Amino acid sequence: MHRDPALDQILSAIASRQRFVLSSHARPDGDSIGSQLAMAYALQALGKHVTIVNKDAAPAPIMAFPGVPDIQISDHVTGDFDAAIIMECGELTRPGVAGLDKYFLINIDHHPGNTGYGQINWFDATAAACGEMVFTLIEALGVPLSPEIASHVYLAILTDTGSFHYSGITPRTFDICRQCLEAGVDPVLVARNIYDTNNMGRLKLFGAVLSAMRIDSSGQIAIVYLDHEMARAAGGTYEDTEGLVNLPLSVTEILAVVFFKRTESDEFRVSVRSKGNIDVGSVAKEFGGGGHKNAAGCTVTGGFETLQEQFVAKIQRAIKDGSI
Ligand code: 5GP
Ligand code: MN
Repeated sequence: MHRDPALDQILSAIASRQRFVLSSHARPDGDSIGSQLAMAYALQALGKHVTIVNKDAAPAPIMAFPGVPDIQISDHVTGDFDAAIIMECGELTRPGVAGLDKYFLINIDHHPGNTGYGQINWFDATAAACGEMVFTLIEALGVPLSPEIASHVYLAILTDTGSFHYSGITPRTFDICRQCLEAGVDPVLVARNIYDTNNMGRLKLFGAVLSAMRIDSSGQIAIVYLDHEMARAAGGTYEDTEGLVNLPLSVTEILAVVFFKRTESDEFRVSVRSKGNIDVGSVAKEFGGGGHKNAAGCTVTGGFETLQEQFVAKIQRAIKDGSI
């Protein structure tokens, strides 16, 4: 396969530098944590000094993975670093960590529309996870696949493909996973850590949210809503909703889901998901957010009923434009 010149630029930038700070997006997921930790272990194997700074802590199930508790949680970074490696971020605002722009920036990402904010920009929208790109870089660096690196690459791929549900999966995705298993990853244990270590409040919260779910006039779009009062009543928290947005897609007729989480009285975190060729990434972009074709998000303000109508109209359009 043709090799991106940016990859060679990154190899020489790493070779000539010693101290690295790594960061990724706020509210981290499996791909942001897995990409960062795989990179950190690889750089450490080369004798480099590595610090990871994230705005928010990892979701509870991911805390069990090696190195995750050592991530520094802060909204700013200071210190003497030769470069910052930002992974899994389409824009430099995504980390929510001030001060990163002071450093030599290496941008590694797979989100369509990446703004190219780095001194080096390696962008590959065909990667199923940013963790795939990190794997390729680690291979090119000549660092052997340790169990720690392998478990983080596998975590990134498993979660960012929605457990091998989403588009973007290629033979290489499975080849990387094969190598991760050969390096010691136990897929049963990883799946249990990620999917089967939740609390009862989360299950009750899922029940409450799904009971209140609405379906649009076409019967193809599920609208899911959560506010703090519902969460309290169910005995769960907003953090417990990870993965909930995907559940309505398990119904044959449902082609897209929009999930509104009320954060302030008129502010909402919105997650959108879709099947097949339905592009909800461009829907989220119209509302100032972004993401991938089948998984995207944004933050919006306004009245809930109005916002709901606006999103449903745009998603109905995306369904017309796409075809399964
Ligand atoms: P989630 O719905 O899980 O928060 O995000 C789904 C996908 O959309 C992720 O790949 C994430 O990177 C992207 N995404 C979510 N929120 C935003 C946002 O506010 N801005 C941008 N650019 N991307 C987002
Ligand atoms: Mn990703």
